Amino acid sequence: MSHTRSHSFSFEFFPTKTDAGHEKLLATARCLAEYKPDFFSCTYGAGGSTRDRTLNTVLQLDGEVKVSTAPHLSCVGGSKQELRELLNLYKDAGIKRIVALRGDLPSGMGMASGELRYANELVEFIRAETGDHFHIEIAAYPEMHPQARNFEDDLANFVRKAKAGADSAITQYFFNADCYFYFVERVRKLGVETPIVPGIMPITNYSKLARFSDACGAEIPRWVRKQLEAYGDDMESIQTFGAQVITEMCEKLLAGGAPGLHFYTLNQAEPSLAIWDNLKLGR
Ligand code: FAD
Repeated sequence: MSHTRSHSFSFEFFPTKTDAGHEKLLATARCLAEYKPDFFSCTYGAGGSTRDRTLNTVLQLDGEVKVSTAPHLSCVGGSKQELRELLNLYKDAGIKRIVALRGDLPSGMGMASGELRYANELVEFIRAETGDHFHIEIAAYPEMHPQARNFEDDLANFVRKAKAGADSAITQYFFNADCYFYFVERVRKLGVETPIVPGIMPITNYSKLARFSDACGAEIPRWVRKQLEAYGDDMESIQTFGAQVITEMCEKLLAGGAPGLHFYTLNQAEPSLAIWDNLKLGR
């Protein structure tokens, strides 16, 4: 199957704490830039814990690696004034895309802090402050956000957030294409035409993935889990099997109308590129 570059392909990074980690991130980004993605994005620690590292990483990826880069921005634990300053810094630097999130504060810090409580309020705030300057991305949860009361409630909250002024959405990762198609169908019936790009998590390490998936509410299908468990410490087999499973899911997603793919790289090039090459996405 051939895929046209009218799809949107993007790679996500996280800002690192050490110089060595930052150098590795830049090397990964330079390698991935060769594949001409539509954009990079860089995560943000809720409460502003990575404010300067995210800002510096975004400016460097955008300015030096020369791939248009979107900062993630979360509103919990921050004041409107802090958010305004950051938005203006990005705007003045020519950044045109932003991923608007609520974020999660570390446990114990409570959810009530901050002037904006939910991501729909952040989307409204960005529009009120900066008009149409930014292309605003929002988060979507085909398997339901872990804190939502129920699926319908979460769907209604997503629709409100999209209608607050979002241009497109990126999903939490999942391992079952059907939940994505069902979510998109339900959203469309509620009158939202915003493109919803699947977030893709390459499988590289089973125990880490299992822990992370529990926390963010992504289900690893039993047959995949059992196979990965059986490989034990055989990392090569885990990665080969993982790339095959994810490639097949991406094929289904693109064939079924997904408008692109957003890779959670975890600052590594190879796992995403294995899938990219299997999909024959080219450069
Ligand atoms: P919201 O859309 O605000 O939803 C949060 C919860 O509140 C949901 O259960 C929703 O149903 C409910 N809700 C929403 N609006 C309302 C309302 N008005 N009234 C009542 N309930 C409501 N986290 C980070 O800290 N940094 C990042 O860089 C980061 N990047 C991410 C990128 C992507 C693509 C995704 C999918 C997630 C990312 N996250 C990040 C995680 C995200 O911050 C968490 O999942 C967080 O718990 C929810 O953020 P949200 O923007 O989806 O929240």
